[in-house]
Amino acid sequence: MSFCKYKSHVEVGDTVVVYVNPRLMYSLKIKEKEVFQTRFGALRHDDIVGKPYGSKLACTKGYVHIMDMTPELWTITLPHRTQIIYGTDISFILIQLQLKPGSIVIEAGTGSGSLSHSIARTIAPNGRLFTFDFHKERADAAREEFTDHGLGQIIVVQHRDVCADGFINIDQSVDAVFLDLPHPWEAIESASSALKNGGRICCFSPCIEQVQKSSESLRNLNFMDVETYECVLRPYEFRDWSLKKFKYDPSRVNSSVSHVDQNNPDVGGDTNKSDEEIYQENDDTNKRCKLDPKLKTEHSLDNNDDHKNDDQDVNYFISYMNNEVAGHTGFLTFATKFDFTAV
Ligand code: SAM
Repeated sequence: MSFCKYKSHVEVGDTVVVYVNPRLMYSLKIKEKEVFQTRFGALRHDDIVGKPYGSKLACTKGYVHIMDMTPELWTITLPHRTQIIYGTDISFILIQLQLKPGSIVIEAGTGSGSLSHSIARTIAPNGRLFTFDFHKERADAAREEFTDHGLGQIIVVQHRDVCADGFINIDQSVDAVFLDLPHPWEAIESASSALKNGGRICCFSPCIEQVQKSSESLRNLNFMDVETYECVLRPYEFRDWSLKKFKYDPSRVNSSVSHVDQNNPDVGGDTNKSDEEIYQENDDTNKRCKLDPKLKTEHSLDNNDDHKNDDQDVNYFISYMNNEVAGHTGFLTFATKFDFTAV
């Protein structure tokens, strides 16, 4: 199999995705006569062989889907040997390094090979990824995995300390360099020698002090366009929002609303106001209440039937950002090599 191409049917030796739900997936290498245990019971490998990818298979207590492996799904399901780079950063790195089929790339360190798989698919079929790790077992495990995943022709793994010994054994200048190391600035000079003029470099660092050191080193070596980004996914939520447009009467409002509206006793009140004005007022209140869904209840009138005919629902479709998203993985510092003497 190859992570660069899709297959129609499962064969022995394939690495497949056992999909339970969007938050629970496993990677599984198919072997004869083996059994895989899932939350929904046992799954015999032999029952998977020959099935079309996408098939729904019964386990003893439920079912799963079998999907073809991609670099994105590998990042979610791979066995961790180190911290890894995740999909959000990976997509940005591939674009900013301007990778395309045929590109020649250096990566250090290899780690768990999460990013390497995505680079390999992007530069296939003629590109090369030279990836380095000074941890021998990790380098060996990664080499074995890349070969197993059909990427052995594209990825060359070398066991080397790139800070001490540099990037050697590469017989051509490279289009891009990616550094995910504790001290990336120690490898930048060697990366610069390996890069072609106009080539791109990226340093991934979790803290800003490391970014400062890398940026200084890049500037000292005449790199241009030194820019640092942080990719944080912030999901927006959408909701139908129904608010009462009612005549203001303090005796009809639940006591709990008073703490919300003490600075704005007019909220939701004046029937002479336009929908726009009422929405603005309610929106301000909503912001103060951090869009707590309970607000709707707090704002609602009591259920006294006498008042029912005075009130109207005003419906809005609102979106808001969830402010409690924890997303920091690291900072991505990009730059372009520019050698004046070569122009
Ligand atoms: N980017 C990888 C991924 O997505 O799976 C994870 C890289 S991991 C965080 C960092 C790796 O760099 C480790 O495997 C470590 O052994 C390697 N490393 C650290 N310093 C190194 C050096 N001077 N030369 C080569 N590799 C090094």
